[in-house]
Amino acid sequence: MTRSKLVLTPNDPQVVPADAESLVRELGTLGFAGRPFLLLGRTHYLPGDRFLELVTFLGCSPVVALVPPLDAPADPAAHADAFCHVGIWYAGEHPEFIRGRNTAPPRCRECRHREPDWQKVIEAWRSSPEDYRWLCPTCGHHASPFELDWRQSAGFGRFFLEIWGIHPAEAVPGPALLETLRHAAGEPWGHFYWQGDERPSMLP
Ligand SMILES: [Zn+2]
Repeated sequence: MTRSKLVLTPNDPQVVPADAESLVRELGTLGFAGRPFLLLGRTHYLPGDRFLELVTFLGCSPVVALVPPLDAPADPAAHADAFCHVGIWYAGEHPEFIRGRNTAPPRCRECRHREPDWQKVIEAWRSSPEDYRWLCPTCGHHASPFELDWRQSAGFGRFFLEIWGIHPAEAVPGPALLETLRHAAGEPWGHFYWQGDERPSMLP
């Protein structure tokens, strides 16, 4: 089964929140994250009571379930794909590249050149993450891979807030949620959409 997520991460891929536990508390106080449950060995959260005010759904009538099916309230993990819930993932000391089945070729931010060989770009970046710069063959612009325009189909970071159950371009984070995240990390956050299979991690 294909899973879909809206994923948020600080714009600077090196940045992580200073205190992840207090961020979780703040997300609870805000009404974004509700009751915790365990899914694939990680703590997830049911949507809080203000979830729909904090995430903006773009369709005129979104089909979004916020609670587990009534026949399984005691085991939400068994129905993880049937409703929205929130996960937090710390990837480690170094930024990871997160791509899904939906990842599209990135574009140069200067001239919009489309880079079809992006897998090679990522390989080169992984072998030399500090020094590697992509060179645009059209305009000569130099950029780190995370400075390319991935059109919200991939992202880089060390710390991710995942909202499960949201399809590409179906919803965006609202201003109050983004402000809470910015305060926690000292840096604005961006978002992208991920679609993939049942693996617990977003890593390929
Ligand atoms: Zn260019």
